Amino acid sequence: MSGKLFIRNEWVDAVSGRTIPCINPADETEFERVPAAGPEDVGRAVNAARAAFDGGWKRSSPELRGKLLRELARNIRAARERLGQLETRDNGKPLPEALFDVDTAAQIFEMYAELAEQFDGWHGTNLTLPVDYLQTTVKYQPLGVVALITPWNFPIEQFTWKVAAAIAAGCTCVVKPSEITSLTALALAELAQKSGFPPGILNVITGYGSEAGEALVNHPGVDKISFTGSTATGRRIMSLAAPTLKRVSLELGGKSPVIVFDDVKIDRAVEWVMFGAFVNQGQVCTSTSRLLLHETIAPAFLEKLKKGARSIVVGDGRTPGVQMGPLVGAEHYRKVTDYVAAGVREGAELLTGGGMPSGLNRGYFLEPTIFTNVEPHMSVWRDEIFGPVLSVKTFRTEEEAIALANDTDYGLAATVLSEDTDRAERVIDQIDAGITWQNCNQMVVMQAPWGGMKKSGFGRELGRWGMEAFLEIKQRTRWL
Ligand code: NAD
Repeated sequence: MSGKLFIRNEWVDAVSGRTIPCINPADETEFERVPAAGPEDVGRAVNAARAAFDGGWKRSSPELRGKLLRELARNIRAARERLGQLETRDNGKPLPEALFDVDTAAQIFEMYAELAEQFDGWHGTNLTLPVDYLQTTVKYQPLGVVALITPWNFPIEQFTWKVAAAIAAGCTCVVKPSEITSLTALALAELAQKSGFPPGILNVITGYGSEAGEALVNHPGVDKISFTGSTATGRRIMSLAAPTLKRVSLELGGKSPVIVFDDVKIDRAVEWVMFGAFVNQGQVCTSTSRLLLHETIAPAFLEKLKKGARSIVVGDGRTPGVQMGPLVGAEHYRKVTDYVAAGVREGAELLTGGGMPSGLNRGYFLEPTIFTNVEPHMSVWRDEIFGPVLSVKTFRTEEEAIALANDTDYGLAATVLSEDTDRAERVIDQIDAGITWQNCNQMVVMQAPWGGMKKSGFGRELGRWGMEAFLEIKQRTRWL
């Protein structure tokens, strides 16, 4: 039901009357339009969510929440191919990756169905007190109306991580997907409606961040904002949320390191490094875009890495065999290619890539790109580029690697590749990052907490931590 907003289980036109084009980044054509919601539309959606929350959803049974989430997972599986195709067209990612996102979404709705059903299990814990005349019980309750603001790199997954956890917790939501990739959020809303979601518990408004997004953040009827996106927008949202003291969770950017020690199996390590840098066109918050390579293996490793990067098949994500699609859109393409130009200007050496792959003349395609001779002050080393651009530095000692890894404002993820388990664990313990991988890369464990330290934000998603983010905690102390 694109072309409309989803409010109170109805498909409605935006009062603003304005629309946003949906562009296929593989061929630069417009194939759809979605409404550009304004403050009035946002107000309608928040009021619908508030009425649904106060009207009973906050007291809904764990069984009902579980049942609805399971039914939505079932409907997502049934619509797998359609959702995957839509995601690829809207975002550009290769179809197998879009289908993987759909499958993961179904699994996450099921995981939160189970957590919702167990909710009473962690409801009402008695504390052990040092006195015998008091009894204290700790309980959780749904937080209220939550605004869920998502980015464009994993539209289906980001919608799911937030909506599944919020609904499981007994909150009602207003989702605002990225204006660059709004379509699968609307498709998922349609499936939620089909799954029997009561009116108002899930509302989806499409629109620009500066307009619909800010109206949502400013709205006094919203109790919490769960935001995933850039650090700059996170900062803005936090300041806008201050006057109304809204709760805020921020999942922001990163510039994550992958450290490769000299004892690795080189072929396998090259695969993990490429995956961490180029999957989803490098548009992953946890992309390991800074490679720290032990100097003794650097020549052999870089040779294989260059060969590997050049072998990646870039093209329209709908074409079988394509491994890397286009970047998401024109503006982002400009940003990433400007960084490539800055890297060259600042004196880094282009080991491979940097241009449009041969044979492609339309679409926002960029070759997998690797810079060597990078210095820590260079923008390609410091800034989140959010594209298929990997910067390499060599190191001699463990201490040097740790210091370089931590020399960043961000603290989202880090990867350590080494056959020496003690060393890998020791290094991971000393890196300030919320998500770490040892001898693997970019594995999303949906049962585990996901989120960052430092300027990568705060709060955690996924697992029970994702659900706790949508709960208030309350103690009851009784005189015995
Ligand atoms: P963005 O910050 O530009 O936009 C994200 C969302 O915020 C969009 O829906 C946008 O419309 C909205 N928005 C923009 N300005 C707003 C404002 N002033 N008020 C309210 N809402 C506003 O980010 P993006 O370019 O869509 O996504 C890329 C960024 O997301 C990268 O920095 C990436 O690292 C980050 N990201 C983080 C995670 C994580 O889990 N930490 C996951 C995915 C992406």
